[in-house]
Amino acid sequence: MRVYTIFLIAITLMLISCGDKKPAERMTDEQLQVFANELAHKFIITDGHVDLPERLKGIKFTADSINTVVSTKKGDFDFERAKKGGLSAPFMSIYIPSSYQKNSDNGKSYADSLIDWVDLIAGKLPDKFALAKTPAEVETNFKAGKISLPKGMENGAPIGNDLKNVKYFYDRGVRYITLTHSKNNEICDSSGDTTKWNGLSPFGKEVVKEMNGIGIMIDISHVDDSTFYQVIRLTKAPCIASHSSCRYFAPSVRRDMTDDMIKKMGENDGVIAVNFYTAFIDSAVANHQRNSSVQIKKLLKEKNLKQSDTLAKRISSQFRKEHPSPEVDIERVVDHIDHIVALIGIDHVAFGSDFDGVDGMLPKGLEDVSMYPNLVYHLLKRGYTEDDIEKICYKNVWRVWNKVEEVARNRK
Ligand SMILES: [Zn+2]
Repeated sequence: MRVYTIFLIAITLMLISCGDKKPAERMTDEQLQVFANELAHKFIITDGHVDLPERLKGIKFTADSINTVVSTKKGDFDFERAKKGGLSAPFMSIYIPSSYQKNSDNGKSYADSLIDWVDLIAGKLPDKFALAKTPAEVETNFKAGKISLPKGMENGAPIGNDLKNVKYFYDRGVRYITLTHSKNNEICDSSGDTTKWNGLSPFGKEVVKEMNGIGIMIDISHVDDSTFYQVIRLTKAPCIASHSSCRYFAPSVRRDMTDDMIKKMGENDGVIAVNFYTAFIDSAVANHQRNSSVQIKKLLKEKNLKQSDTLAKRISSQFRKEHPSPEVDIERVVDHIDHIVALIGIDHVAFGSDFDGVDGMLPKGLEDVSMYPNLVYHLLKRGYTEDDIEKICYKNVWRVWNKVEEVARNRK
């Protein structure tokens, strides 16, 4: 009996350890789910984009607000759910809405207030969270059981017209800057706006060089195609897309990447962190959202209301409640990962959820940060190996992050 038990354990260990064979071919569905959960906790899941700071903006840091970071029913992220899902390094998005571009300081003080929030979380909850400026620091935090909070700034507007601000934000811990958001800024054109610069502005070209020199990752999510191609030509370091998906599955979404752009990212040795937002990953939802917006605009016009009016917001949310968008399954996200892998291989894809930034519009089975094991399970089912999944979970992002620092060191 004892020999038999030892034999069984040995077989199980063998099954788990042979990373070269596809787990889906040698495990039952139940075993695959257990294995997926193990991998999600073994690998240091690094997510390119989580909007927790946006959810916390304007809230005073009190005992109650600290608790919402540890455990809450609101939003998509908290410590407890992140631990359950194996999320170890969510990039905290320092998101600057384009409306702040009109401020005299271009949103710099607002950016600082969000950065302060992230620093406070790490400072006040040191047994649970820690800041991280390098992959090595993420690894140290992981070994201590802590969730790392690296920072990425979504919108380069706060750089203003002063290149010194690139270093300023680097010193505040920002490790990537999304060049712009939904509107053109002083750096470049956005995918959500009309053309102003035909890509990068003259100042934007200097910003790209400065980011290479300082060691901040260039994030091409949100930018116009023309901006993307100019960045790729100009940069001396690999780039990231912190939260972008494939336009192949949602042709009307200009914020997603075309196959050609994906190929260029491969040549750049960059990484694309796939966004989970259903309106970016599925045409049916994208179309539904567009039609709903048209209808809501019409309704508000009839009632002579501005979108910012309280009543308008109520009408708009009522309309969306009565006309829910089509459901999307978690497998759609895997389709995007598959598509990128088919085009440029396994070394250039990652997770860039956009959790806490998409109003709960997330695929079934991937509704919050506790659900990464489901995604890993579906990747296993599609035939990905343990090594593949390790790359998707963190190694690809870390390679780019380390490389960007190395390029900067060599230029100094
Ligand atoms: Zn975004």
